[in-house]
Amino acid sequence: RGMSSDDVLDNFMVGFERRNPGEDDFRQAVRELATDIIPFMVNSDRYARMNILERLTEPDRIITFRVNWLDDESNVRTNRGYRIQHNNSIGPYKGGLRFHKDVTLDTLKFLAFEQTFKNSLTGLPMGGAKGGSDFNPKGKSEREIMVFCQAFMSHLYRYIGPNTDVPAGDIGVSHKEVSYMYGQYKRLTNELTPVMTGKDLAVGGSLIRPEATGYGAVYMAENMLATRGDHLEGKTALVSGSGNVALYAVEKLIQKGVKVLTVSDSSGTAFDSQGIDVEKLQWLMFLKFERKGRIEEYAQAFKGVEFLPDKRPWDISADMAFPCATQNEVDEADAQTLVANSCQLVSEGANMPTREEGIRVFQKNNLLFAPAKAANAGGVAVSGLEMSQNSMRMSWSREEVDTRLQGIMRTIHEQMLEHGKDGKTVNYLRGANIAGFIKVADAMLALGVI
Ligand code: GLU
Repeated sequence: RGMSSDDVLDNFMVGFERRNPGEDDFRQAVRELATDIIPFMVNSDRYARMNILERLTEPDRIITFRVNWLDDESNVRTNRGYRIQHNNSIGPYKGGLRFHKDVTLDTLKFLAFEQTFKNSLTGLPMGGAKGGSDFNPKGKSEREIMVFCQAFMSHLYRYIGPNTDVPAGDIGVSHKEVSYMYGQYKRLTNELTPVMTGKDLAVGGSLIRPEATGYGAVYMAENMLATRGDHLEGKTALVSGSGNVALYAVEKLIQKGVKVLTVSDSSGTAFDSQGIDVEKLQWLMFLKFERKGRIEEYAQAFKGVEFLPDKRPWDISADMAFPCATQNEVDEADAQTLVANSCQLVSEGANMPTREEGIRVFQKNNLLFAPAKAANAGGVAVSGLEMSQNSMRMSWSREEVDTRLQGIMRTIHEQMLEHGKDGKTVNYLRGANIAGFIKVADAMLALGVI
């Protein structure tokens, strides 16, 4: 009543900060959504009266537990475990587990919040959740990893189920860790029911699940370029990170005729001015997935590859950027450098890799900017397909899964166009926020005040 959208947003954020003091990442994710949703809700009394936005910023349930485990020297070690069940209005809670030394409640609340809208965008019936631990997998033995996964699941198992909450992987949790946890679930419950996705192929995993997030981010780029009558072939790209998301994005980019100049990890960037080719990528995958080595070794192994210690890729000149490492890896200055170097497109493979000020720079300069909740939705989309295959007790071919993934990415792009058209340009962030929100909000209205 009489208040501008900006005032409503400010008021809302004051209340939010009072309820969630010091949670900077969660605040950033909520602000990024609320900035678009509040002006949209002004025209929709029913969402406002039902207090939908505030309800959506309060997770349904937060579970934390102490995880004790025995290391290889028989010392008892203690970590904190979490599961944030954010919203299950459109389907069972769904989202990954992150094992990383910096994980806090704040990290997982922002990720669970993002997941809710991302999952909604996929069009599949999945609610939003996230979990994990401050357990640091770096330098741990194979046995220690398995022991930790089992100890973690000994707590988590009572809160999950195939129709309740279906965890998966994230940073530090690959098909191997997922399968160890799945094994422990089976031991504890005597049920081999598909309670996790991202499983090893041998125990009901889906083909294309490891590739899906990276491939999806590239398919999204392709869809965006098509709106300008453009295509991927012949372009150059910067990729950050060197995990699952990054390396499969590199693989798909190479297949599409793109010259990929960089990969990175927490100690620096490998700059390959020749472009990473198929053989070098194979070497990289072995280095990262089998040997768990550092990216610096890649620079040492190949002539013409430069290692830039403590640097991120963003001041190298390229047509496109794929941030595939972690949150807040692109700040305002990075965004300005990318723009100054004529970067035309950013497709976010990681979750919330760009700071709010960086996003404004991209928007002001009319870049094709696909926000994480849309661009990296391919991973959880194929998790949804894994659930479908498991409940049919069937498995689809690579082609079948890949075709469906491409279809889902295309549909997400169409939804962003529908809700994000702004004259001649497209505000993809607004499109993703509104499209993701509407489906969850309508489900909440339909279910009543619960
Ligand atoms: N961790 C992934 C994400 O951020 C995938 C989650 C899942 O497959 O459930 O979307």
